Amino acid sequence: MNKLFFYNTLTRKKEEFKPIKKGRVGLYTCGPTVYNYAHIGNLRSYVFADLLVRTLRYNYGEKNVKWAMNITDVDDKTIRDSKIKYPDLAAMAALKKFTAEFEKYFWEDLKKLNINKPNVITHAADKKYIGKMQDLVTKIFKAGFAYIKDGSVYFDVAKYGQKHKYGLLVEIDVSKLKTGASVDADEYEKENAQDFVLWKVEKPGEPSWEFKLNGQKLPGRPGWHIECSAMGQAELGMPFDIHTGGIDLKFPHHENEIAQSVIGYECESPVKFWLHNEHLLVDGQRMGKRFNNFYTIKDLKAKDIDPLAYRFLCLQTGYGKTMNFTWEALKAAEEGLKHLYNQAKQLYFLWPENNGINNIEEGKKKISKKFNQKFLEAINNDLNMPKALAVVQELLKSNLTQEEKYTTLFKFDEVLGLNLNSIILDPSSNWQVEELKIGRERARKEKNWAEADKLRLQIEKLGYMVEDTKDGQRISKK
Ligand code: AMP
Ligand code: ZN
Repeated sequence: MNKLFFYNTLTRKKEEFKPIKKGRVGLYTCGPTVYNYAHIGNLRSYVFADLLVRTLRYNYGEKNVKWAMNITDVDDKTIRDSKIKYPDLAAMAALKKFTAEFEKYFWEDLKKLNINKPNVITHAADKKYIGKMQDLVTKIFKAGFAYIKDGSVYFDVAKYGQKHKYGLLVEIDVSKLKTGASVDADEYEKENAQDFVLWKVEKPGEPSWEFKLNGQKLPGRPGWHIECSAMGQAELGMPFDIHTGGIDLKFPHHENEIAQSVIGYECESPVKFWLHNEHLLVDGQRMGKRFNNFYTIKDLKAKDIDPLAYRFLCLQTGYGKTMNFTWEALKAAEEGLKHLYNQAKQLYFLWPENNGINNIEEGKKKISKKFNQKFLEAINNDLNMPKALAVVQELLKSNLTQEEKYTTLFKFDEVLGLNLNSIILDPSSNWQVEELKIGRERARKEKNWAEADKLRLQIEKLGYMVEDTKDGQRISKK
């Protein structure tokens, strides 16, 4: 068994990962707030989570990794926007209808990026989980770490800070905490750390659930942080192995998740490994809905860019590094991906006895142990995907047989998720022509007209015509 290492935000170190229960891994990913289309910054988080899950499965086996993700379908933003979109519906009906629409788009986007579906998908507004959240609020209250104020329930951070460390994922100056001051908003800066809301009092015209605490009727709805604590515990137990999210979730969301679980589930450390992906930036600023600098999968499609090119772009940067988005970088990634597809097709079509690929067991024997080991070392080293891609290129350039290269490359795609299989099975495209087209595009960009003409002749020899238009080359069958 190869060792796995991940950078753990909790210890701020790269550490060896060992599951709590031998051979089985449980992980939880903070899912989207479904009030809008996901932008490609959000989607970077899910590409990262998918790569992590695929890497864990590559090591522990498909069935031994349980991946849970929530859908935040009740919070300040979903309620606000559902009322605007469906003013004539009852509050709960409007919320359900509104969030279901955006959830549908979310899964469609993930599919286009070849992100697997989690084993368990939990909805925060599901009655079953609302009950779990209420149980957790009750436990925290009974333990003396929560209080009721104007019908809402708040977590007592100062009291918690006396016994436990508040500020595990980010540095917090606890002395600056304003005792007794509370905050209702789900998102706030660490400079404004205060008692946060566990349960929010019902507001007229907003969806709410019955709740009784300490003999008082408290109709209302859960705060954002309690949602993830309760759903994570419900699906994975406590403690569990890994929790993921974007770095903006470290505080307050994940810090508060820890505090709630420490008290409510009497668990010293609810999660063993906290993994956070860095942001996707545009001109140096985080891509975000509130900054109005975001792109969605629809925008990619409008430019006729294969969403998998974005996945390929994500693979080229470690998840722990910021990544600056430009259309040029995405186009270059698309070209790189096409080139890889052509290399895969070439291997397939030039391999004389390619009927063997249907025999999985036979195929497995052909996987290069040496390259598989190199690949494992890259992915197991905190998901070093740029290195893994370098191993792919090394493999393709090596002097292994076609068969070995092919089977090894396809094995790697279990992790990379670039959908090589579907490309091979697509008979409509001719890899040789596509490869020449890419070369000619490059030659034209470099104004190397002699090379471009040479490549044109080669394309024509294969029975195709080349037309140069203002949108680039158009190639058709003669
Ligand atoms: P939200 O739908 O806003 O709850 O966010 C979903 C996920 O996207 C969270 O894990 C965020 O941390 C993450 N996220 C938001 N903006 C970005 C960004 N620009 N780059 C990478 N991840 C992001
Ligand atoms: Zn969460």
